[in-house]
Amino acid sequence: MLIITCPFCGARPEAEFRYGGEAHVARPADPSALSDQEWADFLYNRTNPKGLHAERWRHIHGCGRYFNALRDTVSDFFVTTYKTGEPRPGHDATTTAGER
Ligand SMILES: [Zn+2]
Repeated sequence: MLIITCPFCGARPEAEFRYGGEAHVARPADPSALSDQEWADFLYNRTNPKGLHAERWRHIHGCGRYFNALRDTVSDFFVTTYKTGEPRPGHDATTTAGER
């Protein structure tokens, strides 16, 4: 079973967590200025990279809080987790030890 480290509670089994989509998606500064296509892009289109990806997760069966994680989408390897509001860490997935 995959172990995910909640930044508030520590390492827990993956069954306690729920995926929450891509992290660091900025809201439009002036929403009324956006076209329908730009709104659709903001609401529905995500990067979906092959490799390192910043994601939101929620510790649904623990503290209930959201946090961010850097996960390699190829290996399912969690490089690190960090609290929301903190900047994305500058990790390199190929050289950083993490958790599995
Ligand atoms: Zn937690």
